[in-house]
Amino acid sequence: MPKTDVLIVGAGPVGLFAAFYVGMRDLSMRLVDALPEPGGQLTALYPEKYIYDVAGYPKIRAKELVTNQVQQLEPFHPVFSLGARADKLERIEAGFALTTDKGVRFEASSIIIAGGVGAFEPRKLVAPGVTEFENKGIAYAVKNLESYRGKRVLVVGGGDSAVDWVLMLKDVAKSVSLIHRRDSFRAHAATTNQMIAASERGEVQIFTPFEVARVEGTNHVERVVIYHSGSKVEQTLEIDEIVSMVGYLSKLGPIADWGLELEGNRIKVNNMMETNIKGVFACGDICVFPGKLKLIATGYGEAAIAANQAAVTANPDLKFEPGHSSEAKEAPGTKPAVAPVSSSDAAH
Ligand SMILES: Cc1cc2nc3c(=O)[nH]c(=O)nc-3n(C[C@H](O)[C@H](O)[C@H](O)COP(=O)(O)OP(=O)(O)OC[C@H]3O[C@@H](n4cnc5c(N)ncnc54)[C@H](O)[C@@H]3O)c2cc1C
Repeated sequence: MPKTDVLIVGAGPVGLFAAFYVGMRDLSMRLVDALPEPGGQLTALYPEKYIYDVAGYPKIRAKELVTNQVQQLEPFHPVFSLGARADKLERIEAGFALTTDKGVRFEASSIIIAGGVGAFEPRKLVAPGVTEFENKGIAYAVKNLESYRGKRVLVVGGGDSAVDWVLMLKDVAKSVSLIHRRDSFRAHAATTNQMIAASERGEVQIFTPFEVARVEGTNHVERVVIYHSGSKVEQTLEIDEIVSMVGYLSKLGPIADWGLELEGNRIKVNNMMETNIKGVFACGDICVFPGKLKLIATGYGEAAIAANQAAVTANPDLKFEPGHSSEAKEAPGTKPAVAPVSSSDAAH
């Protein structure tokens, strides 16, 4: 049975950084994530968006930050179990046993939960034709901006994601329209104003308050019928691609049944990132404590604390203070991990 020192649930930015710090302590780690790729919300929801508040980067695309984090982690030989949801956590004599939805069981001395908003999925549009054309012109995330080049795109929504994508898509798409069921936008005022200015220059079309009546086409989306939320008067737009950004539903999922003390759908931690279960730590969006901010920057700090605590749990001979990486005599990761796991485990 594959055994690691520290098992990390969630390979979002915070889980990846926790793994890095586990590696800095010369311990082995496994990351389990339900998504098929690392990066959490950055990969699934906004890979192409720029992030402006990660220290050291004036701006960086979300997907590049994830690539850099994976690269930073590589010297420590991380083992990823992707596309696997962590379903069951049990205490065993040697620490913990975690079982995935695929029935694979992993053992670890300590656990870090960096599960973000839990198992999340985009809120789906509800209108005739939507299910039929999902992935045939209806998408809930922009995975590749270039694939929209020269297309007529309709963005649905009024929050940050919708407005940000209108601003990004207008530079590559043939045309960009946005519909939102309210007159006011939930997005930041600055980007909303940029979008309104773009519509005044004729670069994008904004329809408010409008909703999707139905989606039509043969093998792919060809047009969308929208209606005014008040008058119900319909209008038809010739469209190639619909990008729906009407939020997402998040569920803590199986983690809620692990006996952890929760506040809403988040895990309560103290200032050592300890949960109520000894040996189980939490960090990132999934944890809550007074003053908690749901930001990548704060998640990184929490990850460093959680990882060093988890390291001491896995190897009580270690001190909590990791020392400074700049004082290391060799580049991090040049030594093999203390408890290496077979690379074949990566398939699990
Ligand atoms: C549109 C958008 C823009 C944003 N912009 C910024 C920004 O500019 N700056 C900033 O600081 N923050 C921003 N954020 C917030 C930021 O993305 C989050 O704070 C960050 O992703 C939290 O990282 P995390 O690793 O804690 O969680 P996540 O990124 O949510 O990753 C958690 C991972 O855990 C996995 N998981 C959950 N439950 C299980 C389970 N049971 N089994 C297996 N895997 C599981 C999930 O699949 C997911 O991959 C933005 C968020 C959104 C949605």
